[in-house]
Amino acid sequence: MPEFSKVGQKLTTRSGILQLMDDLGRALAGEGDMLMLGGGNPAAVPEVQHFWRERMRDLLSHGHAFDRMLAHYDPPQGNPRFVHAVAKLMREKFGWPITERHVGVTNGTQSTFFFLFAALAGTRADGTRKKILLPLSPEYIGYASQGLEEDIFVSCRPRITWPGGEGERVFKYAIDFAAVESRLREGNIAAMAVSRPANPSGNMITDEELRHLEQLAEKYGVYLIVDCAYGLPFPGIVYGNAQLLWSPHTIHTFSLSKLGLPGVRTGIVVAPPEIIEAVEAMVAIIGLANGNVGQELALPLMASGEILDLGPKYLRPFYEERSNAAQAAIREYFDPASVNWAMHASEGAFFLWLWLRGLKISTAELYLRLKERKVLIVPGEYFFFGLDEPWEHEHQCLRMNFAQPPEVVREGIRRMAEGVKEASR
Ligand code: PLP
Repeated sequence: MPEFSKVGQKLTTRSGILQLMDDLGRALAGEGDMLMLGGGNPAAVPEVQHFWRERMRDLLSHGHAFDRMLAHYDPPQGNPRFVHAVAKLMREKFGWPITERHVGVTNGTQSTFFFLFAALAGTRADGTRKKILLPLSPEYIGYASQGLEEDIFVSCRPRITWPGGEGERVFKYAIDFAAVESRLREGNIAAMAVSRPANPSGNMITDEELRHLEQLAEKYGVYLIVDCAYGLPFPGIVYGNAQLLWSPHTIHTFSLSKLGLPGVRTGIVVAPPEIIEAVEAMVAIIGLANGNVGQELALPLMASGEILDLGPKYLRPFYEERSNAAQAAIREYFDPASVNWAMHASEGAFFLWLWLRGLKISTAELYLRLKERKVLIVPGEYFFFGLDEPWEHEHQCLRMNFAQPPEVVREGIRRMAEGVKEASR
């Protein structure tokens, strides 16, 4: 092991996200016969694939736009026409009082979070340290190893509710606002962050919860980061009714990935201008400019507003059907007599989050045993970073992706249920 700097050591650890992306890449590259219920790869939705292929043909047939896309560095803020289109869309469709100064582009939301956490969390010039507060743990694995300093997160356990009664085996997390406010009162928080819908649980924090978080952000003078990677207004993989809200101290992060374009690595940030300037400066230092293929592909849709239609028309029905099929398979194969299972309400994104009470091993151990059965899931332990006390729930949950073809998901669930049964004896 070479002797790296402290930051170097932190960024080169074998993180959960590295293991996850490595598993994912290898399984999708066709190495072995693994059933891939890990990772966050979106599904191949035929209409959407066709749509982007057509859009690429359009670009190719307009030589000028194609040449410009390949041959130019964009300004670090993003392609000015794309930035303009995003600001206009948010203003006209949602009434947000924003201009181009509120919009930035990155090489994907994962990079956006790296920039935001690097800028906001850590030691200030006056020696004080600020952290990122996650109001509802479990939260996205991709945040966990970020930050340039150690220990940048504090998280709050949620309340566990049973909307249809415990007998239905469907639970829902709710934010424990007393816990969140008590953390904010300590005065060392720079920002709160939530994924909505949440990865891993598929939880959609309610409009009321979101409003409450905004009020708290204002009261305590912190930013509220809302990660809309699966959410509103695009890709719109949200199964119930929910609203997109705006406030002057909210940082919204959007992505083209779950619109079927993870390969183009395009993230969008809508935030107060001082945050956009910070992101822009970091884009320049770290990568000069962003990739511009995604922006060029999506530009006409952003300008016309058509980007808002892809979710309701194609993605939401597609994923909702897969979610229902996966839930039915869980009910069919999981035996309550061997393990007291429950699943989180599936309110968005494309994961089911299972809670296995009575499992005799941790889900980290279960992950390894299921890998032997050629099925990949993500153990729950990775998603509970930032809690200050151990919680047995951490070792009882797992995340499974239901975006793969139905027969793969079904067979994966069958093998998973067998593995769980064996581990519960
Ligand atoms: N945020 C959440 C909640 C995610 O699940 C993901 C990817 O799966 C990302 C951010 C990062 O997305 P990307 O970097 O592809 O835009």
